[in-house]
Amino acid sequence: MQELDQLQQAALKAIEGAIDIPALEQYRVDYLGKKGALTERLKMLGQLPVADRPAAGAEINFVKGVLQTAILNRRGRLERAALEQQQKAQAIDVTLPGRNVEAGSLHPVTKVLARIEQFFASIGYEVVEGPEIEDDYHNFEALNLPRHHPARAMHDTFYLSDSLLLRTHTSPVQVRVMEARKPPYRIICPGRVFRIDTPDPSHLPMFHQVEGLLIDERSSFADLKGTIVEFLRVFFENNDLQVRFRPSYFPFTEPSAEVDVQCVNCLGEGQCRVCGSTGWLEVMGSGMVHPRVLEMSGIDSEKYTGFAFGMGPDRLAMLRYGVPDLRYFIDNDLRFLEKFS
Ligand SMILES: [Zn+2]
Repeated sequence: MQELDQLQQAALKAIEGAIDIPALEQYRVDYLGKKGALTERLKMLGQLPVADRPAAGAEINFVKGVLQTAILNRRGRLERAALEQQQKAQAIDVTLPGRNVEAGSLHPVTKVLARIEQFFASIGYEVVEGPEIEDDYHNFEALNLPRHHPARAMHDTFYLSDSLLLRTHTSPVQVRVMEARKPPYRIICPGRVFRIDTPDPSHLPMFHQVEGLLIDERSSFADLKGTIVEFLRVFFENNDLQVRFRPSYFPFTEPSAEVDVQCVNCLGEGQCRVCGSTGWLEVMGSGMVHPRVLEMSGIDSEKYTGFAFGMGPDRLAMLRYGVPDLRYFIDNDLRFLEKFS
């Protein structure tokens, strides 16, 4: 049967050439399916003389077996190839660059706070923290700021009730130490403070303060000057940094002084925006603790004297890192914060 041979050849060629399982399945249907070429042959057996039917049938069935085996083999190979392909696709590509784990870093103000604490710890100061929600007495009255005192206007804050408020400075922490402990001591009080201010390049309703206090039997304004000048020179890493003390007024110190440093931008030349062309930058308030403040906390002002100072780490961070606008510190913009990592 010449024709059957040709059919077998064609079928085997098609099966071997099937590129995937659906294609192979289509060839199976074409040859062995209900209306497949080989099935049609079997159906046509009835038209042959009875004597020829068994031999013809056996031949067709033989070809059917050959094709079925070929299909099974081809299917096996296609399945293995597909599996290999899949494994290849899912394999770990060791040549790919690794996924970056972004390293976080400390906020610039936190870094400045740590720097301030490090200096004062090195000269024997203790770091003390206190509550951010204060009562009127510790925030104002004990610091010689009775109700209706005009200086309270500079400390407008957020009240939680008639007597509870968000502290406007960290001085109440000093009051709490003075009430609880017997001098001598030297402490610094870092922390967040609050005032009602509309955010602008140099004001925020929430900012930071570090206040310092030393109380001893023989502390003088000379000690205050020495401590502050040394701190500022270490902080700005400039041993020749010029520092000046200007008479000022604070209700809780007497005498009081504002502390200016030589402009760190123009080095005192003037003619610059940072210092408003004055050559000086105001960085601190300071003074000898008012005897009345000592007495209110139960300290004998005849026996003890002390000095206090206060600074803004946010402003110091602006000066140290050359940041032109305070609001950058609270924007949470990674492009800004990454500069300090
Ligand atoms: Zn300047």
